[in-house]
Amino acid sequence: MNEPGFRLGFELLGEVDPEIAATINEEEKRQQENLIMIASENLVSRAVLQAQGSVLTNKYAEGYAGARYYGGCTFVDRAEELAIKRAKEIFSAEHVNVQPHSGTSANMAVYLAFLQPGDKILGMDLSHGGHLTHGSKVNISGIYYQAFSYGVNRETGLIDLGNVRKIARETKPRLIIAGASSYPRFIDFEGFAAIAKEVGALFLVDMAHTAGLVAAGVHPNPVLYADLVTATTHKTFRGPRGGMIFCRSEYAAAIDKAVFPGLQGGPLMHIIAAKAVAFKEAQLPGFVKYQEKVVANARALAEGLAAEGFKLLTGGTDTHLVLVDLRSNAISGKEAEALLESVHITVNKNVIPYDPKGANDPSGIRLGTPTLTSRGMETGQMLEIAALIAETINYRNDKKRLEKVRSRVAELCSAFKVYYF
Ligand SMILES: *Cc1c(COP(=O)(O)O)cnc(C)c1O
Repeated sequence: MNEPGFRLGFELLGEVDPEIAATINEEEKRQQENLIMIASENLVSRAVLQAQGSVLTNKYAEGYAGARYYGGCTFVDRAEELAIKRAKEIFSAEHVNVQPHSGTSANMAVYLAFLQPGDKILGMDLSHGGHLTHGSKVNISGIYYQAFSYGVNRETGLIDLGNVRKIARETKPRLIIAGASSYPRFIDFEGFAAIAKEVGALFLVDMAHTAGLVAAGVHPNPVLYADLVTATTHKTFRGPRGGMIFCRSEYAAAIDKAVFPGLQGGPLMHIIAAKAVAFKEAQLPGFVKYQEKVVANARALAEGLAAEGFKLLTGGTDTHLVLVDLRSNAISGKEAEALLESVHITVNKNVIPYDPKGANDPSGIRLGTPTLTSRGMETGQMLEIAALIAETINYRNDKKRLEKVRSRVAELCSAFKVYYF
């Protein structure tokens, strides 16, 4: 079989469940045939995929290594211990819990460990780049806790620590959260820590997006400044889909108890093994080079887009992502997302701070470089892609031009293959 899915050894799946096998094939093709610029996505290695697809999924292991509620845990204990040892080394952490099923679960465990229902939390406004789990009204974090928010400066697009301090003094939160889903600049963790200390709050950094950059030392390490740090393993970090929590030793017992038995049952041991593999990969020399390229590519993309006349929030980026304010391009984020998808460039619509439009049809798009960098692309390709994006948006009614863009995108996709093709 030459169908892509079967190159990953899915012959058996094809026999047992042709519908799902075909669906996986289609998804593999989609990943290969599109320039995926979703900032929160990446491509895991085949080694990570293999660990995820292993028999470790068969094992129940409630509890922690050496203290499980099930027999037969010798080998999954070893996998979890390896994951923990590596993660602590990479992030210079005193303690890590690698069991959270996702970034959201990691945040919930922190809240469960340190907050009572009704307690005050202070996080970044969702519409300014924060995350649902930092106090949004529709999320448990805003339903069970009294949530306050800070935003960015209207002119600069930057977090204004003076404003954060003012709100923190007024509201006296039990927990202050820094970290975002769409903020392209470094965050002053030390400054946040000082504010938290001043108002007697615990300080949580959610580095869901930037964990890979942090691991490679191309982004400040919040573990050195925060009481608690949560992360995902699947965004810039390029591991399996999951979460983790770092903390100082004094909080270790509370965090472990909140994850299990507080919030979760059996840990996903196949995913924990895959996390260990991703940690191992993060300790190889190529990882730093990769993350450096992710950032260099985002900078090149930002420069290219700015040169094409696009307005960028904060004027550029320090990280893996770029936010484009489309208000001067006479196109909405939703329209731009659909239009770019039609030429096989995948981005997501995104609210911009002080967005005059709603979240369903916001005024911006968010673009990221982790996936394209995993395919081997460099700054030259980013500049070209910026030009292709501009051509698509500026000449959106010119079918011939769009067709030309589409065929150039197809060429780029086949020149920079997703690993399994
Ligand atoms: C992605 C993200 C999360 C949630 O991660 P999931 O694994 O999708 O639950 C949490 N916080 C921030 C800042 C994120 O960007």
